Amino acid sequence: MLSYRHSFHAGNHADVLKHTVQSLILEALKEKEKPFLYLDTHAGAGRYQLASARAERTGEYLEGIARIWQQDDTPAQLEPYLNAVAAFNRSGQLRYYPGSPLIARELLRPQDMLQLTELHPSDFPLLRAEFQNDKRATVARGDGYQQLKAKLPPTSRRGLILIDPPYEMKTDYQAVVTGISEGYRRFATGVYALWYPVVLRQQIKRMFHELEATGIRRILQIELAIRPDSDQRGMTASGMIVINPPWKLEKQMAALLPWLHRKLAPGGTGHVSLSWLVPE
Ligand code: SAM
Repeated sequence: MLSYRHSFHAGNHADVLKHTVQSLILEALKEKEKPFLYLDTHAGAGRYQLASARAERTGEYLEGIARIWQQDDTPAQLEPYLNAVAAFNRSGQLRYYPGSPLIARELLRPQDMLQLTELHPSDFPLLRAEFQNDKRATVARGDGYQQLKAKLPPTSRRGLILIDPPYEMKTDYQAVVTGISEGYRRFATGVYALWYPVVLRQQIKRMFHELEATGIRRILQIELAIRPDSDQRGMTASGMIVINPPWKLEKQMAALLPWLHRKLAPGGTGHVSLSWLVPE
């Protein structure tokens, strides 16, 4: 089943949180000259047109990136992310949204590498076309979880692995944990960033227990909810699980989360949280 299309959701509050965390990790990795690998297991199409029938049908970006774009009080730490978005909107008007692979392309240096995987028959060619002239990038059509076995450890022995499945199949909640264990066994010093939606809180709690049971240490949980938990259908919150986070990330997110929440949930509903699922 491959019915999920990210174009309906591009730039929503969950993308804002995900890409903020992604950009902070990439900036931290750039503090050392040594190259690193950016591995994106579920890369999507790359570029999304916000003024399109799909994006406008749901209007999700209006309650996401549009709320933090061109604000007077933007925290400096959001600059790498927002500059990457601005690179696709040179007129100043918000028309396109870069997905995770294009944000990485903007932020990576000539010595870094990208390994991108996308399974969807329509999104894969779009992604491949985006990167056809980028010698740093390898774009594959296939199962992203397999890459965690096939491509790790990277020769550079440094890297960020972003795992961002659609969770349209319940098995994804288990597959991400298995995939992370496989990757971690090969590359224990990598930074792993896993995105998760909160649709049913129980599902997330189960996933956390399974992650804890892997024995992996240094697992930071970052969450932003725009509505209280609910057992009705729909995503109320999303979060990022970061294994081996750069040392500054916790402090940076502690400063950013209240600002993001104020902008993304102007009515004050929902919550933010930042805690160690498993400490050192
Ligand atoms: N990471 C992207 C971003 O932040 O811009 C968005 C990715 S979207 C949430 C999830 C993507 O995973 C979809 O484009 C979907 O087609 C793709 N997908 C679904 N199952 C997959 C699999 N087993 N391996 C790789 N990609 C898959």
